[in-house]
Amino acid sequence: MKILVCVKQVPDTEEIKVDPVTGSLIREGVPAILNPLDACALEAAVQFKETYGGNVTVISMGPPQAEQALRQCISVGADDAVLITDRAFKDADTLATSYALSMTAKQLAGFDVIFCGKHTLDGETGQVGPQIAEHLNYNQVTSAMDVKLDSGSLLVLRELEEGRQTVAASLPCVITVTKTNYTPRYPSMKSKMAANRKEIKILSASQIEGLDMDRIGMSGSRTKVTKSFVPQAGQAGMIICEETAEQSGRKLAKLLVDAKII
Ligand SMILES: Cc1cc2nc3c(=O)[nH]c(=O)nc-3n(C[C@H](O)[C@H](O)[C@H](O)COP(=O)(O)OP(=O)(O)OC[C@H]3O[C@@H](n4cnc5c(N)ncnc54)[C@H](O)[C@@H]3O)c2cc1C
Repeated sequence: MKILVCVKQVPDTEEIKVDPVTGSLIREGVPAILNPLDACALEAAVQFKETYGGNVTVISMGPPQAEQALRQCISVGADDAVLITDRAFKDADTLATSYALSMTAKQLAGFDVIFCGKHTLDGETGQVGPQIAEHLNYNQVTSAMDVKLDSGSLLVLRELEEGRQTVAASLPCVITVTKTNYTPRYPSMKSKMAANRKEIKILSASQIEGLDMDRIGMSGSRTKVTKSFVPQAGQAGMIICEETAEQSGRKLAKLLVDAKII
């Protein structure tokens, strides 16, 4: 099995701030982490490899510091890592991001399964995985909480809002993973040291065969973020709980009259 896992480095959302003047996210100086669901996607891929054999490659499109996230992936079971990084990818929306990732996957060739997180902490669109499947003409199964191989096809348990569903899908296939069942493992000191020594393949836009420069970065993006803002915190609510329902009703009515609502 040749397995690819797409991972994104995201700002630690506890610390994210919006520039009040420009309305854009302040990314400078904000600690970056591996997107948590991508760590689960990697765990799913590594368990899949351990059960059925194969090789796991991780890929990220991002700035040069995304290399840290890729080394973290190697320390917990990925075999190879590829970083696609170039100023030409800047300001990509999900369509441009998924196109660049798909073209690189085509060049690396022959992936049977591509694992993605269900969504990221920052963009949170959940579009990149399904779009990769469309670009590559792969089958796709979203919200996977368990992935098995059965007679050459995938059997995927999906987590739905109100239940579970098992679907069968033939290879090649893109799977987007939810947290359930796939708790990321911890690296050992030895695996961390080995990951630090591992060579990461770095590709610029011009090194991706057949990449159409009009379909990447801002020129390849069909959506524009027109405004980002932190909503004002609402007023704290009030719970009216008098001794009797009648007393509560009277108190509520008085509050509404005083506030000139009724
Ligand atoms: C006009 C515009 C400008 C933007 N400019 C920037 C910018 O300057 N810098 C910036 O960081 N973001 C920028 N973004 C956001 C960027 O488009 C998204 O972060 C990116 O397309 C992924 O979308 P998402 O985070 O919603 O991923 P989702 O669709 O929620 O991600 C699902 C899964 O896809 C995979 N995935 C997603 N992104 C990547 C990636 N880059 N590499 C590998 N795997 C990935 C992961 O497995 C992830 O769990 C911009 C967006 C727009 C619309």
